[in-house]
Amino acid sequence: MQIGAHVSISGSLDRSVDNAVERECSAFQIFTRNPRSWFAKDVDPNDAEKFKEKLSDSDIDRMATCAHMPYLPNLSTPEDEGYEKSIKSMIKEVERCDKLGIPYLVTHLGSHKGSGEENGIKRLTNALNEVAKTKADVMILLENTAGQKNSVGSDFKQLAEIFSKCKPAKKFGVCLDTCHAFVAGYDLRTKEAAKKTMKEFDETVGIENLKILHLNDSKGELNSNLDRHNHIGLGEIGNEGLSEMIKIMNENKIPIVLETPIDDIRDDFENIRKAKSLA
Ligand code: MN
Ligand code: MN
Ligand code: ZN
Repeated sequence: MQIGAHVSISGSLDRSVDNAVERECSAFQIFTRNPRSWFAKDVDPNDAEKFKEKLSDSDIDRMATCAHMPYLPNLSTPEDEGYEKSIKSMIKEVERCDKLGIPYLVTHLGSHKGSGEENGIKRLTNALNEVAKTKADVMILLENTAGQKNSVGSDFKQLAEIFSKCKPAKKFGVCLDTCHAFVAGYDLRTKEAAKKTMKEFDETVGIENLKILHLNDSKGELNSNLDRHNHIGLGEIGNEGLSEMIKIMNENKIPIVLETPIDDIRDDFENIRKAKSLA
């Protein structure tokens, strides 16, 4: 089993490896820089070296690490200025991952802002194909969405359609978020429901294209389109379904990353421990 959480880079990039090791992670995700800003300093080669060294000294497999895109870029936007800025920012992000030896970059699919799904998907796939022209050895993972207003890619069929338009295919994969899938209408509450949802995922997107699972419970109900993560087992999905999801990931050797809240109820140490206990 490869399982862990999103960890902080606060202090320095290589601190994230310490954070992952402290939490007994065998997989983890980071933001390579402040996710709330357009601006990012280039990765210092010394910092990249330190990160890579620490990671290879740890028991964590490099292939079980990923980075998440910052929040501001919107690859589906109809507005030209923001669109160009988003593409540039993602190219930079892919290059940052390459320098750090991180094999996967998870991205949201953006908002078409009322310009329509067809238009949004065209902008999105054009942007992704532009980013994929970089020489970086990094796979872009499309994350399924919660189905909020003006979003694309919450429906597995539509996610598969977007994925099929991404070229070259070998540069793309998918990241499945259990909270997003659940609030988008895919039941995960029981063993049977989780199996059925993953069968549908396999028949549309293809489980061989799934490279990372975001394991989150949900504050929102089934079909609520509410993107609010909850602690493992304490949300609307619950222990049984999440346990089955972990089992399916283990059978398919897919790394699992938690993006659960850190609050008075529980921290990430406890959520990781809880998820492991469900395996
Ligand atoms: Mn995400
Ligand atoms: Mn996620
Ligand atoms: Zn989310």
